[in-house]
Amino acid sequence: MNAHILPGIRDIAPAMIALRHDIHAHPELGFEEVETRSRVIRCLRDWGYEIHEGLGVTGVVGTLRRGEGPCIGLRADMDALPIQETTGLPWASRVEGKMHACGHDGHTAMLLAAACELARRDSFSGTVHLIFQPAEEGKGGAKRMLDDGLFRLFPCDAIFAMHNMPGFPVGQLGFRPGPFMASGDTAVIRIHATGGHGAVPDKAVDPVVVAASLVMALQSVVARNVSPLDMAVVTVGAILAGEAPNVIPESAEMRLSIRALRPEVRALLRQRIEALAEAQAAGFGARAEVDYQYGYPVLINDASATALARQVALDWLGEDGVAAEMPPLTGSEDFAFWLEQVPGCYLIIGNGDGEGGCMVHNPGYDFNDDVLPVGASYWVKLVERYLGGAAGDGQ
Ligand SMILES: [Zn+2]
Ligand SMILES: [Zn+2]
Repeated sequence: MNAHILPGIRDIAPAMIALRHDIHAHPELGFEEVETRSRVIRCLRDWGYEIHEGLGVTGVVGTLRRGEGPCIGLRADMDALPIQETTGLPWASRVEGKMHACGHDGHTAMLLAAACELARRDSFSGTVHLIFQPAEEGKGGAKRMLDDGLFRLFPCDAIFAMHNMPGFPVGQLGFRPGPFMASGDTAVIRIHATGGHGAVPDKAVDPVVVAASLVMALQSVVARNVSPLDMAVVTVGAILAGEAPNVIPESAEMRLSIRALRPEVRALLRQRIEALAEAQAAGFGARAEVDYQYGYPVLINDASATALARQVALDWLGEDGVAAEMPPLTGSEDFAFWLEQVPGCYLIIGNGDGEGGCMVHNPGYDFNDDVLPVGASYWVKLVERYLGGAAGDGQ
């Protein structure tokens, strides 16, 4: 893998790793990435990029123009998580209760390293938009940038994003065309019944019994309504009802997490959950109210953009550098909103498969610095190929 790293990237890697550690030590949550944004802007300005601020509160777009040609967009996310870090590393978070536990510090530094190298090259013709996105973790920063006019101001012919993945060899790239990551929705079901004395159940309508029955009935959605060949998840993550042992409460609340890998299945899940909740409650003489909240859509990689991105990796790294098969993931990603409008590919880069490696969102996790120069070199290779530049593995 090391032999493939571009010489220009190798030269700046120590500085970019130091920058990654600096970002790691100062994590900021979604839409609060003020210091991170300053670091990004300082770098891009030094390297001659046009800077645009203000999309999605703390988002930044850096643009590099090299004559006529297509436009490519590359995205890195910048936000951290509300987790207390336990790594004990010299660059561990200095902010109580906040941590870069998903490697977005690495994604940002990786894209900056690529930015530095791209600015030094004239081996392509077209426009590069480097998009530094806030608030990927649940707050939908990508959607916010979109609503603020991202692709109106910065039209792209194709977009790409890369996420690190523990459990895969360092720097190995993974691609999957079509549906790759699940939609992530939530629903709150409120059951309105009639409270009463715990000793006189016949004079009440018990919402706890309705909720218990509904939890079991909901299991039949995935088991009996969704095709066995499709992926779907319906999880009841919380049931809130009552307090005292001798009081039948008036209402109960259930909170659901709902995931699917195809938009059609996503629609079916909503329809079945609503129908079951209403009918089940009515069967007991209660009433159910379903507040269904759409989260991130299914992430669908464009077939030809994914084929191109994969071919760039194969030509550059050979078969060892590319995962033979990339299974779909049940996690969700707000890059999916952009892929609904612009063809592109969301790809995976291995964070290492050694002993003791933590999954993302774990307090012991850290982005692997060996990944940084590989990912940055890949971005440069991809831009050069997409913008009709240096063919083959010319460095
Ligand atoms: Zn995450
Ligand atoms: Zn992430």
